[in-house]
Amino acid sequence: MSEVHVHRVKSAWKKNALIDDETYLKWYKDSVKDPEKFWKKHGKRIDWFKPYTKVKNTSFNGKVSIKWFEDGVTNVAYNCIDRHLKKRGNQTAIIWEGDNPYDDKKITYNELYEHVCRLANVMKSRGVKKGDRVTIYMPMIPEATYAMLACARIGAVHSVVFGGFSPDSLAGRIEDCQSDFVITADEGLRGGKKIPLKENTDKAVALAEKAGAKVRHVLVVQRTAGKIGWSEGRDLWYHEETAKAKPDCKPEKMKAEDPLFILYTSGSTGKPKGVLHTTGGYLVYASMTHEYVFDYHDGDVYWCTADVGWVTGHSYIVYGPLANGAITLMFEGVPNYPDASRFWQVVDKHNVNIFYTAPTAIRALMGAGDEFVSRASRKSLRILGSVGEPINPEAWEWYYKVVGDKKSPIVDTWWQTETGGILITPLPGATDLKAGSATRPFFGVQPQLVDGEGQVLEGATSGNLCITDSWPGQMRSVYGDHERFIQTYFSSYKGKYFTGDGCRRDEDGYYWITGRVDDVINVSGHRMGTAEVESALVSHDKVSEAAVVGYPHDVKGQGIYCYVTLMAGEEGSEDLKKELVAHVRSEIGPIASPDKIQFAPGLPKTRSGKIMRRILRKIAEDDYGALGDTSTLADPAVVEDLVENRQNKK
Ligand code: ATP
Ligand code: MG
Repeated sequence: MSEVHVHRVKSAWKKNALIDDETYLKWYKDSVKDPEKFWKKHGKRIDWFKPYTKVKNTSFNGKVSIKWFEDGVTNVAYNCIDRHLKKRGNQTAIIWEGDNPYDDKKITYNELYEHVCRLANVMKSRGVKKGDRVTIYMPMIPEATYAMLACARIGAVHSVVFGGFSPDSLAGRIEDCQSDFVITADEGLRGGKKIPLKENTDKAVALAEKAGAKVRHVLVVQRTAGKIGWSEGRDLWYHEETAKAKPDCKPEKMKAEDPLFILYTSGSTGKPKGVLHTTGGYLVYASMTHEYVFDYHDGDVYWCTADVGWVTGHSYIVYGPLANGAITLMFEGVPNYPDASRFWQVVDKHNVNIFYTAPTAIRALMGAGDEFVSRASRKSLRILGSVGEPINPEAWEWYYKVVGDKKSPIVDTWWQTETGGILITPLPGATDLKAGSATRPFFGVQPQLVDGEGQVLEGATSGNLCITDSWPGQMRSVYGDHERFIQTYFSSYKGKYFTGDGCRRDEDGYYWITGRVDDVINVSGHRMGTAEVESALVSHDKVSEAAVVGYPHDVKGQGIYCYVTLMAGEEGSEDLKKELVAHVRSEIGPIASPDKIQFAPGLPKTRSGKIMRRILRKIAEDDYGALGDTSTLADPAVVEDLVENRQNKK
């Protein structure tokens, strides 16, 4: 294995940090020794209309029941807006940066209050009641946030569907939760291209209605003023309706366990599940992790580049930051428009202090070349974050050195749609960093590694990652299918939440996510995480991204098949293949020697940017007729190229 780089906490990171190492160790110990006591205290970080007396009532056995702060009464929108108005009514809540670099605006907490109340009143007057499901299919514009908060304010349950999804995907999600109110825009704008959101919605509603759903209203935000179809009576203009509505709306009294939202998982592994999150515990956990993981101080400008269609957007663009009275930046565009310098231009323009993005973006920008980064000063940056996939050490170092000028700690945050918030992560002022490791558990989180039979593994080892006890942000059920919830997460290992991820724990107790357990390959009896081989490939100068899968191999059981995307300007050749094989052998060992290498101009990704190894496995097996559910694929053309150039043609 190549050497592990350790970056010790610098005194500059420690200075003013909310949590130092001593505090981390003490709080962590307290949090697992007496979770009741720990969360009783920290549950008070949000405002309650009626304080809770019960803190934790959870069981991972039998029917599985998870309740936090259950007799408390609160409202999420109240916590994200109203309670800040006295102190920071005129402070910016949202900085919006449009797709076009000349397009931006700032929304104060006072303005946020009015926008949300007006919309809440529109929904109420159009018959949306507490518990009703509202589908939000929007571009990254402030109205998407208003819509989420307006639902929370009146107790409606939102289901945000990423604006890049097809009419089919949208229809399936409308139907699954029987949502009868949809909020969308005429068109979205990303990278200079228009996305026909209203047209997609029209198609989706027709499909959903064929399957038995009934959509009463579609509320349409005018974003581009492009031409759209209109269904009289059903369709309503957002600007007309909100102009008529009253600017105040009393927040609904919500029990801690009343549903807040449903979010369908991205589908890297199969049919999307309606992950259900509730009110109190979720907000406590999202806001607490946002504050401590990003070391958020009053006045910091914080930017998470995710889309609100993903859980990262829910917890770390909207709910966590706004509950903390933060300034949160919302970006409509993409990293490479107008060019690959856009992120850093935005950082300079708005003096961003905390920047949180995904490995897929980091690798793509690394591939585009350093000059796009150095063109911007980035001097405001203090903390960098990563989420969504394992970050290869090579990409980590590039992010640290080139983007952060070695000044900013990187928080590599491991978590899932299901977990509601970050579970394993460094804390900037407390944790020594190792490139590629998500490091240590957050307060109250108890990770455990087990083998295939459920035997608990101790010390430095590799295994399947489970969490042994509940935390407040945990999902409560699969919407409408509690049995699937139990089956998916609690049936593999009795009494434990199984994450589906493989993981290594090193001698310092640091956790290294090695990818999904389904993706582990077994070569001549040696089990290997795909992340390890991918990182070895990416550490070669000419490689910008790699995806590794197993395929049936007569001798070894499984062979190693590598899809490799080269840096801009590099070309694939037989010689380069040999060089890459030698490189992996020297980085990991002969056991990891690639059997097949295919140069790929692009990799199949979910719309949230994750590599879909399920599809790559099928192509490697020369079984591309059975690709399965490809509805969440971002760019189907990529797959055609891969099939065309597959290395295992029979
Ligand atoms: P689906 O569950 O529908 O197949 P998904 O798992 O990609 O899709 P998410 O909940 O968005 O949907 O992603 C969670 C997964 O992403 C984790 O289980 C893990 O595999 C991966 N992941 C997230 N953050 C990290 C990280 N910091 N390091 C390594 N892997 C990560
Ligand atoms: Mg998952």
